[in-house]
Amino acid sequence: MRIRNYSHRVILAILWKTLAKGVGLGNVLPLAVADEYGIYKERRSLQLIVHRRRPAEHGDIEETVGSYSLGRIHLFPCQRCSTGFLTFVFLHELCHAWIHQFHERIYEDSETCGFCDKFADRAFRILGGSVSPHASCGEFVLNERRALTAADKFSDYARTRFESRKFERPNKTAQHAVSRI
Ligand SMILES: [Zn+2]
Ligand SMILES: [Zn+2]
Repeated sequence: MRIRNYSHRVILAILWKTLAKGVGLGNVLPLAVADEYGIYKERRSLQLIVHRRRPAEHGDIEETVGSYSLGRIHLFPCQRCSTGFLTFVFLHELCHAWIHQFHERIYEDSETCGFCDKFADRAFRILGGSVSPHASCGEFVLNERRALTAADKFSDYARTRFESRKFERPNKTAQHAVSRI
């Protein structure tokens, strides 16, 4: 995974790369191998772009903080976002990336935000993260060193969760709790 950080803030690059590797997205992306539509070209690995921070706070976390499209994850932190919260959003988008790269048809046909929310929530706790109900973006707590020691446990969980393929059926009225794709 290649990371570009334009936000001038500390990010958990080692952890995030480890997590991407843990779900099989650490090297050349599956869809970039054939690159049927010439989308990936020279950027054949997962790209993570952390954008310059926003002037305003997120306040509640209903607005778009992350997105995924065609091998690229974008994060849009505000000045209050904790690295724990950004990791949480990263996990959500990593889930979208995984579905897209390994199950393209499901990605195109189904509403997968609910699945990815649950995945991110559980994975975040497995990594030792904690969050209180209705916490703002500044209140997600995660210790990177501790999270790295749980990387194998995370990979095991991801494998089990993804193999279950309990994707939700399309639901046009579904609200995305953290981000939109
Ligand atoms: Zn924020
Ligand atoms: Zn989503």
